[in-house]
Parts: sequence; C-alpha cells; structure tokens
Amino acid sequence: MGRSSKDKRDIYYRLAKEEGWRARSAFKLLQLDQEFNLFTGVNRAVDLCAAPGSWSQVLSEKGENSEAVKIVAVDLQAMAPLPGVTQIQGDITKVSTAQEIIRHFEGQPADLVVCDGAPDVTGLHDVDEYIQAQLLLAALNITTHVLKSGGTFVAKIFRGKDVTLLYSQLKIFFSGVTCTKPRSSRNSSIEAFVVCQNYSPPKGYIPNMSNPLLDHSYDVDFNQLEGPNRVIVPFLACGDLSAFDSDRTYPLQLDAGKQYQYTPPTQPPIHPPYQQACHLRKMNLLSREDAPSLCPTQSQDEPEP
Ligand code: SAM
Repeated sequence: MGRSSKDKRDIYYRLAKEEGWRARSAFKLLQLDQEFNLFTGVNRAVDLCAAPGSWSQVLSEKGENSEAVKIVAVDLQAMAPLPGVTQIQGDITKVSTAQEIIRHFEGQPADLVVCDGAPDVTGLHDVDEYIQAQLLLAALNITTHVLKSGGTFVAKIFRGKDVTLLYSQLKIFFSGVTCTKPRSSRNSSIEAFVVCQNYSPPKGYIPNMSNPLLDHSYDVDFNQLEGPNRVIVPFLACGDLSAFDSDRTYPLQLDAGKQYQYTPPTQPPIHPPYQQACHLRKMNLLSREDAPSLCPTQSQDEPEP
C-alpha cells in the first residue's frame, strides 16, 4: 500500500493534514459545534483525553476570544506543546489527576468540558463498552467539580446495550442530553457523542472525589451523606408478620401419640463436595490417620444410595 492510500480512502484524514489539524477527530468537534453552537461564550475549557491535540487546537482557535482562552488538556500520552494550552499528563480515572485538573479551575469554573476518551479497544465488546463507560463517568465526575452552572459537557460514548444507564446518569446533572453522531465519525464505529447542556446538578449536590468507581480505597462515610448526595434504593419488606420468622426456632408440632417423620429433601445435591467426608464419617474413618484420601476419585463420585 502506498503512502497516499489512506489519503484516498479517508477524506477527513486528508483534509486534517491539509488544514493543519493534528488528527481527523478535529472535524468531529467542528461538526458538533455547527449543530450545537458549542463555543459561543467559551473562555475556559477542559479537554480530557486530548492527545494528539486536535480538539485542543479547535478549542483554542474557535473559543470566544482566542487570545484569552484558557485550556487545560489531559491525556495518558505526552502531547507536543500547543500555544495557550496547559498540559497535564495523567490518567483521568485517577483521583490525583482529577485533583490536578480541579486546581486549575478553582474560583473560575470552566465553560465547557470535552472528552474524546477511548480505551485501546480489545475487540471484546462488553469489555470495551465497560471501559469506555468508566472513562465517561470519570470525565463526568471531574466535570461536576469544574464546570460552571449552565455549562456544557461533550463526551464520546459507545452506544452499547447499557447506554441508557449512562443517559440516565447524565440526565441527573444536565437538563439537555443529546446523543449525536457527526458525519466524520464512521458509520461502522460504535462511537457517538453526548452533548450535555445546561449543567444543573441536583439542589444541594456536593461534588465528591471519593468515588468508588474511581478509587477502590474511597473514604466516604455513606451514612453522613444527605440530600441528593445520598443515593437511597427503596427497600420493600415482602410479606407481613403472620409468616414464619426465618431466624426463630419453632418446636415440632406433633399430634398426640404421633412420632416425628423425617422427610428427605426433594432433590438432594448430585455431587456435593462433602460427599466423601460424609461417607467416611459413617464408616467412622474420618478422623483416622489411615483413612483413604479425601481427593475425589471416579468411584467416590458416585452418589450415595
Ligand atoms: N481528541 C483527540 C484529538 O483530537 O487529538 C483524540 C483523542 S484519542 C481518540 C483518545 C485518547 O484517549 C488517547 O490519546 C488516549 O491516550 C486517551 N485516554 C484513554 N484512556 C485515558 C485515561 N484513562 N486517561 C487519560 N487519557 C486517556
């Protein structure tokens, strides 16, 4: 294949080079802006999963006042410098990276957060969708710390079978959530973008970095959380007090003169792991040093009569 074959196959790849964008992805953000007018009034923005940097290029060129625009770009990979763009190299699912981003916006929230994050796809769709969802949730969590009220969040999303759960989670924080696919995103790809408008967290919501999704050693005392910060799943007690209490011991209720009749289980276990031990105990061999080994053998696997 010659050097120009990708140029011939992929118009956006070719155009990106011709127009000076670092990646063809630039067109995705440009096309999203044409539809949603993302950049009006944007002076401060966060570009999550930014390398090689074409979205940061778009943000710095199309922001409200390109001289004054402040952009913080974050990626696992190192990125060649871009004028006016502060870079952080780190993993957005790590609290330390999130805190570094948050520090840049203390007192001056961002107008826009974008995230084009994608994992290295494995081809196992469930795994890829799960990791992509974790990236999106990590980006959302960072967003809740840095985005101004009324601000916009744009993120790549994989439209897998569980995508509606993500939509519901986003709807908690934004009054407008739209899933969209720009022309420059290949039809063959599962990727789409969510454009989440008008950031309006639930009243009283306190952004919280101690997220079990982000760090397994989280330090929140869930009993101390109040209002919208406390997620309560309804608990329904099934049945009333007239039913037997499964924690109590009830005496056998025998009619006068009747003996207790043992009823065997309807279906005993077929090959329980304790079968051989029961057999040895019956033979009074269990505690003897010369007892046969407890490793299962073909004949010992046979169910007891
Ligand atoms: N928007 C970029 C542009 O226009 O140049 C392209 C982004 S590329 C499709 C996806 C990026 O996500 C990769 O550079 C990858 O390193 C980054 N990424 C994936 N997982 C990440 C993570 N956990 N933290 C930070 N970056 C991550």
